[in-house]
Amino acid sequence: MRDRDLYAQILGIESPWQVRDVELHLNEGEVVVHVDLEPGAQLTCPHCGKPVPRYDKRTRQWRHLDTCQYRTVLSAEVPRINCPEHGVSLITVPWAEPSSRYTALFEALVIDWLKEAPASAVSRQLGLSWTAIDGIMQRAVRRGLERRQTHERHAHLCVDETAFRKRHDYVTVVTDRETGQVIHVGEDRKKETLEAFYAGLDETQKSSIESVSMDMWPAYIQATLASIPDAAQKIAFDKFHVAKALGEAVDKVRRQEHKALLREGNTLLKGSKHAWLTNPANMSRKQWCDFAALRTANLKTARAWAIKEQGMSLWHYVHRTWAEKGWKRWYDWAIRSRLEPVKKVARMVKTHLWGILNAIILKASNGLAESTNSRIQLLKVRSRGFRNKSRFRTAIYFHLGGLDLYPGTARALRTHMN
Ligand SMILES: [Zn+2]
Repeated sequence: MRDRDLYAQILGIESPWQVRDVELHLNEGEVVVHVDLEPGAQLTCPHCGKPVPRYDKRTRQWRHLDTCQYRTVLSAEVPRINCPEHGVSLITVPWAEPSSRYTALFEALVIDWLKEAPASAVSRQLGLSWTAIDGIMQRAVRRGLERRQTHERHAHLCVDETAFRKRHDYVTVVTDRETGQVIHVGEDRKKETLEAFYAGLDETQKSSIESVSMDMWPAYIQATLASIPDAAQKIAFDKFHVAKALGEAVDKVRRQEHKALLREGNTLLKGSKHAWLTNPANMSRKQWCDFAALRTANLKTARAWAIKEQGMSLWHYVHRTWAEKGWKRWYDWAIRSRLEPVKKVARMVKTHLWGILNAIILKASNGLAESTNSRIQLLKVRSRGFRNKSRFRTAIYFHLGGLDLYPGTARALRTHMN
């Protein structure tokens, strides 16, 4: 029959497998392609590859790529073998991974779609249940993680937390700063969470880490100090973390001063919040000129702002000694400012100066983690939240792990077809 040859070609069925029959169910819009092993084909054990005798057979079905709009199902009588060493098992088929109900090419199609569209859309378009999609994603991620080179080295890491559901429910995300790939997702943000990641590294991997950038979260600092050799020279506190703290201090001073001025009928600070918080480098010439009256005025806010800007300029240093001198001078100024919110940040800077200096010398920032974080939050929006942390984790690895997700057989088949 002609359509047997046609389907054998479309499906990539090759000897010793052959298409025995093609059943068309017009009403259900489905094609069932029956596949058999050629009589007399030599069977091998899936565990050791040795030739083994046939035991019996089992009927198995796999969903395949649609053909001509028809949902296409592959159905085969799969022999079970009896290996003297490994016992009774099903032989492996060339079109699917063991225990999957989808052919490798179909799984690859689902993976491609999931990269482009929300899972709900993929579910609708391909007529797959949530559980089916979840299973394909989980298998893909497991494959990808297993294929990752076990001893690969990451010289520059970013560690960051990202919110899972409500406030105070976080996961820890470790990113390779050079490749931008997420290499680890831990289901909390405790010291043990990050320690578990470090514990998975061998000694060479640990000592090849040159920098770990992070915000000043004590759990991450402690875990890194406890696990990575010479961590006190490698932990880098993120510039934006310091910038944010200083920005908040300026804003606090402004709010207090604005209130006090209003009581005297002075509206000088009205509507000025944005100007104080904008990076001067991002201001237009006009904005900068308009802002001149404020920043040069005899205001507490102007003083706080000047301290903040001075602090930001200290990140341009190249040498540790000069950077350290610069920060110490800055600290003296900030601590004598009589502005409580600024003094608070100054104390934080003083205790964390070692890691700030590391960041300056190593030129390490968590900017990448910030963008990873927003991509993760976008995944959350796109999938309208995740039912549990394990799915959240799978999705992060799936989309941001840079993993090789395709079933092995699909890769072989695609190369073959091209
Ligand atoms: Zn065997």
